[in-house]
Amino acid sequence: MANFYCKWCGSKSSSVSSLTANGCSKSPSKKHELYEGSEKSEYTCKFCGTKKSSISSLTTNSCFKSPTKKHQPAL
Ligand SMILES: [Zn+2]
Ligand SMILES: [Zn+2]
Repeated sequence: MANFYCKWCGSKSSSVSSLTANGCSKSPSKKHELYEGSEKSEYTCKFCGTKKSSISSLTTNSCFKSPTKKHQPAL
């Protein structure tokens, strides 16, 4: 079964519709938004290159180069 992740907080859901129906405290739109990349063993910040083992741990940390001040996963 496929897993879908929010690109802002790393929340996991079994369908895109259930993911995007829920609120997200880290998202500019206040809703989870789909991470469109594939599932990886390591996620890289697209602004600074920091690597973490999950989207949630990546997006929890601050990024000086990001417009949102948080790391964002590259696709
Ligand atoms: Zn989210
Ligand atoms: Zn970063």
